[in-house]
Amino acid sequence: MAERHFRKNSTTFNCRSCGRLTRDIAGTNQQLCPQCDAWTMIENSILDEDLAGPDLAEAEARIAKLKAEAVAKGGRFN
Ligand SMILES: [Zn+2]
Repeated sequence: MAERHFRKNSTTFNCRSCGRLTRDIAGTNQQLCPQCDAWTMIENSILDEDLAGPDLAEAEARIAKLKAEAVAKGGRFN
């Protein structure tokens, strides 16, 4: 469809990871904010690809950065 209407199910929700109020912009219904969606995907790739050494360090640094972004936007990790 060429025309994009504001979807009825595009509501706000609290991210199930960091708890901040966000919007389901990705339409994935994962109940994750964009940052948590991104870092959980990186975390999955760490497990899937069995990263080690510098690759693992880089992936963990990216996760830490995304979590910091989520916290800066009002999220909270316990
Ligand atoms: Zn989040």
